[in-house]
Amino acid sequence: MRFVDEAEITVRSGKGGDGCVSFRRERFIPKGGPDGGDGGAGGSLYVQADHGLLTLYDFKRKRLFAAENGRPGMGGQRFGRSGKDLVIYLPVGTQVFSIQDGEETLLADLVQAGQKVLLAAGGRGGKGNSHFKSSTMRAPRFAQPGEEGLELRLRLHLKILADAGLLGFPNAGKSTLVSVISAARPKIGSYPFTTINPNLGVVRDEHDTLMVVADIPGLITGAHQGRGLGDRFLKHVERTRFLVHILSVEDIDLDHPWHGFEILNQELKKYSPELASRKQILALNKIDLLSDPELDRLKKSSAALPGRVHLISALEKTGVDSLLQEMWNSYYRMSEEVEQGKKGDRHPLTITSHPL
Ligand code: GDP
Ligand code: MG
Repeated sequence: MRFVDEAEITVRSGKGGDGCVSFRRERFIPKGGPDGGDGGAGGSLYVQADHGLLTLYDFKRKRLFAAENGRPGMGGQRFGRSGKDLVIYLPVGTQVFSIQDGEETLLADLVQAGQKVLLAAGGRGGKGNSHFKSSTMRAPRFAQPGEEGLELRLRLHLKILADAGLLGFPNAGKSTLVSVISAARPKIGSYPFTTINPNLGVVRDEHDTLMVVADIPGLITGAHQGRGLGDRFLKHVERTRFLVHILSVEDIDLDHPWHGFEILNQELKKYSPELASRKQILALNKIDLLSDPELDRLKKSSAALPGRVHLISALEKTGVDSLLQEMWNSYYRMSEEVEQGKKGDRHPLTITSHPL
């Protein structure tokens, strides 16, 4: 399945039903009065954020969405039925823009599951001819037509709302780690985006809570200057709760592993001090490539570091469990902080989703 972050659709709210022109017809009453009922209102159109969705894929196939029209009024003062509202469910993180004369206007920014926004109200139902009776007009032969619905062209834009962003140079093993921790679906990683190619992995714990991990390729030195994909990468990791910084043992001095992490952190700091101050979980990958004495050296040098560094082999799945455990700990801690409002300035990133 393709992961699509951009789609254009057309939506329409329902037209109001026409008012009815009708006259009472009863036995023994030759000229009944007007009794045309009102038309029903057209259905309104909403978008709502659904935590069960992760992609805009469906909108590549279906592009027109219309709420139901109201039904016309009927004789005997009977109202027409109102049209049903239509709710379009979108992934959390979708922004909805209307496009008109080449101008785009943000109509909805769905940052929280359940958030519902009215995009287009349904047309009013027309009044039946019974409304137009007066002393001078005993038998109005007209009624009010229903109001037209509103049609909008929309651009949907989904920003990835990953919980964890993987930070690391190319070939550090980010994609491999994503595929290993979301093990049941090894191909989960590859969704050609329309604009960028991040890989999303979804990890599920025993309570069926889902954590979205984004592995976005292309962070290179100079990323803060917008070179290559780096800048876009950083824009995406900006919205994650915490970072997992992965470094290959091939890229470090075994006795001074800290230096490798610093290179990327310097880049990050230049781009965004806020992002650089975000919690990082550190991992050194590919320890299977090391001889026993080398591994011992690395264990010693990394034990002396200020924070914990996970020594892992994504390929052989060593150390991955405890890394994942720390990721879950961070995930839950951040969830609590969001709930308690400490992180109120950030988007609440609780994507729980179906498997992709
Ligand atoms: P990314 O660029 O960070 O996404 O790195 P990839 O996951 O694509 O991995 C780059 C290369 O390193 C691939 O050939 C992987 O098979 C290899 N690789 C990843 N993890 C390990 C590991 O733990 N040990 C070894 N020996 N190779 C690994
Ligand atoms: Mg990769």
